[in-house]
Amino acid sequence: MKVQESENPLVIKFGGTSVGSGAAFSRAAAIAAEAARERPVTVVVSAMSGVTNLLLGHAAGGADPNANGAASQALRETLEERHLQAIREAVVPERRAEVEGRVLGLLDGLVEAVRRPAEGVKARRAGIAVFGERLSAEVLAGALVKAGVWGEVVGADPIATDRRFDEAEVDAQETRKRCFRYIAPLLERGVVAVVPGFVGLGPDGPTTLGRGGSDLSATVIGRALGSSEVWIMSDVNGVLDADPRLVPDATLMPRLSYHEAHTFAGLGAKILHHKTMEPAAGARMTVRVRNTFAPDTPGTRISADFADGNGVRCVALRRKVPMEIPCANGRRSETAMVVCIGSPSEADLKLGLRLLRKAKIRFLHAGFASAGLVFVVNGDQGEDALRLLHGSLVTADTGVEEVA
Ligand code: ASP
Ligand code: MG
Repeated sequence: MKVQESENPLVIKFGGTSVGSGAAFSRAAAIAAEAARERPVTVVVSAMSGVTNLLLGHAAGGADPNANGAASQALRETLEERHLQAIREAVVPERRAEVEGRVLGLLDGLVEAVRRPAEGVKARRAGIAVFGERLSAEVLAGALVKAGVWGEVVGADPIATDRRFDEAEVDAQETRKRCFRYIAPLLERGVVAVVPGFVGLGPDGPTTLGRGGSDLSATVIGRALGSSEVWIMSDVNGVLDADPRLVPDATLMPRLSYHEAHTFAGLGAKILHHKTMEPAAGARMTVRVRNTFAPDTPGTRISADFADGNGVRCVALRRKVPMEIPCANGRRSETAMVVCIGSPSEADLKLGLRLLRKAKIRFLHAGFASAGLVFVVNGDQGEDALRLLHGSLVTADTGVEEVA
């Protein structure tokens, strides 16, 4: 089997909660295995939930080998317990020893990285942070066997980057070469290739694509392999039209244009890393955002088939927007900005202003910006304004025009 565009290799990315426990690994593996019956599959995996924070906490300390001895040992024990437990739950007995061995080997490497004198703060952070994804990738590869397919962790980091250690820039050409060298041969053998997300390889060693960067890993690898589809699997049903923690009646958006998704992600919609859509739009890949824990729900489709929808599609809140507002006490007050994304009109602006006035939410500025229609309000009224504008301006998706 040759991996060509016609083979339509699929990339599936699982976020931290989707691999947060043994049961979650099994679920994720079952989803990947089912997809792999139809076409070649590459899985991109995040670290188990909470692990990256833990690792970065340890990276923050200096590299004094003595001072770090106890700390790195404690870190090792925590991670060992969590991953070995997941292996016991998700990996078949015949493969357990092998997967455990790999995980223990990685943990040795991690302890080394924590103790080693740093070349620089950022190099150290990246060199430690990458272990979260390396560990979970091993467990997921092991779990795939139980789900009925053979999975292997790709032997070398496929994503080439520049030398920035954090939020590194991807080198698309070099990445394409590496994907064909290290991923394609596995797919040709019918193996599910498992790639640690978030991890890059720069000229000076391991780099990361920034927090939440596994999403970007997925679309970067999809583009390199000529995929037409990437699935981003998380613990929510798809992309909602507002942050559900702030807006209880936030609603799922069944579809989005690249432009809408890119803008929303750029404004902090947590579900997608802000650069995720660039490779997707460039290569016209469809991105489906779906729930690992409700795999039968359709989720959100982001594709070249969709033009921008009508009216306001979704709203985002930016806190602490710098703006000089003289206060009575001479201090500067903090402001917040609600951004209404989509194709807002003058009528939306007028309606928004009327509603803010009626609700006695003081606005400092309102108007059109490149991201959409913006309303700047006092910092402590941002959430109220967000809920109000969401409730009145967002138009439900009743069938967006498809691009011919
Ligand atoms: N594990 C990394 C993070 O927590 C990357 C990711 O999950 O996408 O930021
Ligand atoms: Mg994420």
